[in-house]
Amino acid sequence: MKLTHLFAPLLATAIAAPVLADEVNVYSYRQPELIKPLMDAFTAETGIVVNVAFLKQGMIERLSAEGDRSPADLIFTVDIGRLAGVVDAELTQPVVSDTLAANIPAEYRDPDNQWFGLTTRARVIYASRERVADGEVTTYEDLADPKWAGRICTRSGTHSYSLGMAAAYMHHHGADETRTWLEAVKANLARKPQGNDRAQVKAIWAGECDVAIGNTYYMGKMLANPDQIEWAESVNVVFPTFEGAGTHVNVSGMALARYAPNRDAAVQLMEYLASPTAQEIYAADNFEYPIAPGTQVDALVASWGSFTADSINLMEVAALRATALKLMQEVDFDG
Ligand code: FE
Repeated sequence: MKLTHLFAPLLATAIAAPVLADEVNVYSYRQPELIKPLMDAFTAETGIVVNVAFLKQGMIERLSAEGDRSPADLIFTVDIGRLAGVVDAELTQPVVSDTLAANIPAEYRDPDNQWFGLTTRARVIYASRERVADGEVTTYEDLADPKWAGRICTRSGTHSYSLGMAAAYMHHHGADETRTWLEAVKANLARKPQGNDRAQVKAIWAGECDVAIGNTYYMGKMLANPDQIEWAESVNVVFPTFEGAGTHVNVSGMALARYAPNRDAAVQLMEYLASPTAQEIYAADNFEYPIAPGTQVDALVASWGSFTADSINLMEVAALRATALKLMQEVDFDG
């Protein structure tokens, strides 16, 4: 079987396809429907066909196994941990592009040009509208306060999102204080860490806890799902800060695969996706924040509130993740 057959072409209806169409092959941890509108627009503009292989897991293993015969051109994923993971595994190559540099602020791309952020998401607190007053929780540090005993829900401490947040905490407070904070937060949990971010909001709705930690875009996803609207409407989104600093954010992003067979077309797609207009569409589709200078946040997303992103460089988050994982294990956060 030819490797190209592994791809599901995104174009549902072929538009009098050119016989020798250029192609780009994308390996994506993001769901096809989230990126399809943009890829279709890119194809309409350039004639370059985008094939997306949607992976649920195992991207590093697959790229490693394929080696220099990999059909992958572009890697699409979320979280600095996963972006740094493919870079560390030497599965990417640098892209030097004025367009990318102009549209992606320096804090959201690799100094060595191995990965590029496209959107951000904040890790926020979902607070019960009924049981948590406005202003009752304003910082991540607050979550250690005994007033929250038996009132906090969260997903596993070893998940990428939790590790990124703990890494940022460590940047501000050091490892020892982070361990103390994690112990105190654990002591305040209403139940053992379990489920995804949305499951925590559901638990607030069900009365099991009063505050939960989760990413912003899940608010949009819950509001778009008839079965979950009630969960969303039972909470307020609170943008906590680290004391004296900002709100923890992470990125969705892309990287050029090391052996990209269609390098030029792939770079063209990267530059297209980084354009302010494409960022706004992509961010709105995913309830995230565009990052190019001057871009507008989708009205629904903006309605949850504004915030100042923490100034920590994401490369530092990536570097501190291993220690964060060690601390989670030391305090047996999920136990
Ligand atoms: Fe997520």
